Parts: sequence; C-alpha cells; structure tokens
Amino acid sequence: ANVESDLSAGEEVLPNVKNVIAVASGKGGVGKSTVAVNLAAGLSQLGARVGLFDADIYGPNVPRMVDADEAPHATDQETIIPPQKYGMKLMSMAFLVGEDDPVIWRGPMVHKLLTQLVEDVEWGALDYLVLDLPPGTGDTQLTILQTLPLTGAVIVTTPEEVALDDANKGLRMFGKHDTNVLGIVENMSGFVCPDCGGEHEIFGKGGGKQFAADNDLPFLGGIPLDPSVRTGSDDGGPVVLDDEPGEVGDAFKLVTENV
Ligand code: ADP
Repeated sequence: ANVESDLSAGEEVLPNVKNVIAVASGKGGVGKSTVAVNLAAGLSQLGARVGLFDADIYGPNVPRMVDADEAPHATDQETIIPPQKYGMKLMSMAFLVGEDDPVIWRGPMVHKLLTQLVEDVEWGALDYLVLDLPPGTGDTQLTILQTLPLTGAVIVTTPEEVALDDANKGLRMFGKHDTNVLGIVENMSGFVCPDCGGEHEIFGKGGGKQFAADNDLPFLGGIPLDPSVRTGSDDGGPVVLDDEPGEVGDAFKLVTENV
C-alpha cells in the first residue's frame, strides 16, 4: 500500500496534544478496545483532558462502549467538532458509516481517511489522545506510526501462548519504528467463580506478566475476566467509572496510574 504522508513537510501534527498513546494488540478479541476505553475514561476521571480516537476502521466499537449519543458535526471551515461523552472527545469510523455497513476500503483509502480524521478534528488542547488501534500489524498501524507523534504504545494481551505469539509481532513492529512501548496489560487474567469462589485460569494467568519481564518492559497490570467488564462495554458504561468499581474497576484504575 502507498503509505506516503499527506501532511505537508515540517507541519507539526497534533501540536496541542501532550501525549498520544496507542493501545494495540496482536490478536483480536483480547480486550484492546475495552482497555482503550477504560484507560481513556480513567484518565478523564483523574481530571486530564482526554480524546479517544477509534482507529479500528473495520470494526469500530468505541461509540457503543461509551454509549456515544451525539454525532460529530462539520464546521464552515471544513473541520469536525467531535462529540463528547464522560468528558472525553470522541472520534470513530462508526460515526461516518451506517451501523451495519462493513467498511471494505483498501490501504491507501484508509490512510487518507485516518490522516483526515486526526487532522481535521478539532481536538483542542488535550493531555492525552488515546488511540484504539485495530488488531495486528497492518496498514492502519503503519499509517499511524508514520504520521502521528506517538508518545508510546500499550500492548494488550491475554495470558495464553496464541495471543502472546501475536503480541510479540506487535512488539517487533513498534521496535522497528522506534516507538516507545509503555508496557503490557494482561487481560482476562483469571476468573473468580461467583458460585464456588475459586479462581479459574481460563486463558491461563501470568503470561502477559512474563512477556513483559522477558522483554524488559513495564507490566501495567492484570485485569480479571469478569462479566461486569462485558456488560459495561455493551451498555456503554466503562467499568472504571462505576460508583463501586469493585476488583475489576480497581484493576483498570491501577493500569491508568501505571500508564
Ligand atoms: P478487542 O478490541 O481486542 O477486539 P474487545 O475490547 O472488543 O477486544 O473485547 C472483546 C469482548 O470481550 C468484548 O465483548 C468485551 O466486552 C469483552 N471483554 C474484554 N475484556 C473483558 C474482561 N476482562 N472480562 C470480561 N469480558 C471482557
């Protein structure tokens, strides 16, 4: 794919954003979007000015996960005002296509759209812009690595070998582009059975922590498998914002502090 930058040479990208943090995973379904949403909401809760950019063009889930009830609107200057939820400014492909419409664009179109979405949106002054990347190491990741001033990446993985293999590929991709990796989050790390009270290691446990240690990276925390995380995502109320966050909400808060 042609991934040349559309940006004019020397122009500073996102000059008013202090930190751009990409949340990445090698494999899909490991909870990358969930971590991105809870991280952004957690930072906002701590008083930071936060933007959340859903760069998962082909499977944009962020609007549902925060129950975004407003659409972006265009200004006379051809810029876009992003809607806000829970104090965060939001942008997602899901705002631009119908709910059931699959996006079937090729790499160069994705590249153009992504640069536009980032550039033309009035993010204003932000402390953090959190990017929810698509899984894997494809065109979108390449575009973002080449055009945005990333502060660093957070890699989300589940503890099992299959996910760790893919996380390792993601890690190498960031290394090749000299992008700082802020650390590893281990999601779905053990399940406490509400009936028997025992902990079951459905995807194993500790694999993400070991992966961090093996690569000399910070371990940002483990998030247990917990139905409240899933209902929070489906209902648009990130679990980190619950009045009584419980063990899993506290785990997300710890990740937020560690980032
Ligand atoms: P990805 O972005 O990696 O594809 P998602 O964040 O969309 O993954 O998560 C996949 C599904 O798993 C979602 O339905 C989400 O609500 C659920 N999920 C993620 N993390 C957890 C967890 N710790 N406990 C329970 N369900 C989770």
